[in-house]
Amino acid sequence: MLPDLPVLIVGAGPSGLMLALELCRHGRTPRLVDARPGPSPLSRAVVVHARTLELLDRHGLADAFVERGQLVRGGAMRRNGQVVATVPLGRIGEGLSPFPFLLILSQDQTEGLLREALASYGVAVEWNRPLVGLVQDATGVTATLQAEGAEATQVRVAYLAGCDGASSAVRKALQIGFPGGTYEQMFYVADTMAEGLPPDAHNGRQLQISLAPRTFSAFFPMPGGRTRIIGLLPDGLDPETATFADVQPALEAAERIRVQEVSWFSTYRVHHRVADHFRQGRAFLVGDAGHIHSPAGGQGMNTGLGDAVNLGWKLAAALRPAAPAEALLATYEAERLPFARQLVATTDRAFTGATRASSWASFVRTQLAPRLLPLALRLPLFRRHLFRTLSQIAIAYPHSPLSQGRTATTAGGQRLPWAAGRYELLHPPGWHLVHVGPVPPAVAAWAGRWSLPVSAVAAAGEAPGTVCLVRPDGYLGLVAAEFAETYFAAYARQWLGH
Ligand SMILES: Cc1cc2nc3c(=O)[nH]c(=O)nc-3n(C[C@H](O)[C@H](O)[C@H](O)COP(=O)(O)OP(=O)(O)OC[C@H]3O[C@@H](n4cnc5c(N)ncnc54)[C@H](O)[C@@H]3O)c2cc1C
Repeated sequence: MLPDLPVLIVGAGPSGLMLALELCRHGRTPRLVDARPGPSPLSRAVVVHARTLELLDRHGLADAFVERGQLVRGGAMRRNGQVVATVPLGRIGEGLSPFPFLLILSQDQTEGLLREALASYGVAVEWNRPLVGLVQDATGVTATLQAEGAEATQVRVAYLAGCDGASSAVRKALQIGFPGGTYEQMFYVADTMAEGLPPDAHNGRQLQISLAPRTFSAFFPMPGGRTRIIGLLPDGLDPETATFADVQPALEAAERIRVQEVSWFSTYRVHHRVADHFRQGRAFLVGDAGHIHSPAGGQGMNTGLGDAVNLGWKLAAALRPAAPAEALLATYEAERLPFARQLVATTDRAFTGATRASSWASFVRTQLAPRLLPLALRLPLFRRHLFRTLSQIAIAYPHSPLSQGRTATTAGGQRLPWAAGRYELLHPPGWHLVHVGPVPPAVAAWAGRWSLPVSAVAAAGEAPGTVCLVRPDGYLGLVAAEFAETYFAAYARQWLGH
């Protein structure tokens, strides 16, 4: 017998909120608890990437994100307080995604929009409910929640998701290792109103990076004319006690700017770690609980949201009596752990290159990069590659047991390639059958027997007749050059489980 409650989500940051939304979308109401007394006001993650917007669009949320956020139109490199090179970035992913840009929106706003969407399903975060322990057996998980000074309560659930951030109590309770390391440098982050940045920084919505031999700073255009500044904390400052006033004089002099107002200042160290496992029995790790890395490329929150979408439909499916629960749930770690490892390795290379103090690294940063990057970004191939990598639209699961079949242009495990009008078809939850060109009667009849929505789509590089079973998270499960009933029925029996 399954416990009455399906899923307990521990942690109501972006990952936990998104997982809750995914479960609601698939008809399961989770319980969502957080140790904090209320929502965090901190702006932390500011970059929302295209794949995240595509995933949010399935919830009808992407437009609200774009309306509240700021689109980045370009990038600029600065040296000695002057812009030395600019690169156009607006619509850099044209033709690759319905959201071919970089969006800036602060994390507190992202979380607010996700909480509002959850409220429409009648789900609210239970604040001040920290998880302090858990045990699991063959049929469920018993979690202990206990706020300071309050009595402990126990909750019995079928599954538990640890979305409780880098210091995850769930990960520790499961005794899952979190190997990796910590970079030496200390960073600071400040949300400011700053004067003196070239007008382009805001009117042109430029993301500016300042290159110096021994340090660097980055300036992000935030909504409302604000500027997020990230920089290296100068040696000799105590990160525990440093304030913006300690970095302000040197920053203002080097960058020829004047900072009027600071709404948030914090210092932080950057870690690079990936958990040994993302799953143990009925408990899962999602988001920062499973992986943390340098902020290079703004990938952290976006990856947590991607984890949540990957796990949400699988958990919802696993709760159905006839579901292939074990096989489906195993694919969460199989798909997301390799990506997390690869991400940590690439952000590590980018971060080490950007911050290394050697004279060669400094020469590359201050002399070569401003000359070569603008040239490279004029090459369509390089622009496409950069967008595909940063925006996370290139994430694919070719080695997942869920990924089967290939044609000359498409393979199981890839994201459904975008073309105008395609993604709207995926708005209803569940699996979909997609046929390139008019749907033959035999395909429609088979889809009807499996209660699968079936859509005819125009080719976007694929040959007519190509047919794909698209997963609830928009990735291709089964791909074939033409429909063969026995092949599709075998896959459906294995993975759709009814
Ligand atoms: C300065 C800065 C800039 C960043 N910029 C970017 C960016 O541009 N793009 C990007 O993608 N990422 C960025 N990140 C990273 C991003 O903020 C994190 O990856 C993101 O917050 C992870 O979300 P999460 O939901 O997994 O964890 P968190 O946001 O850490 O949320 C965890 C939640 O769990 C709760 N919790 C903790 N312990 C317990 C417990 N025992 N019981 C119950 N609840 C608990 C916490 O209160 C919290 O609400 C940045 C981070 C920083 C610090």
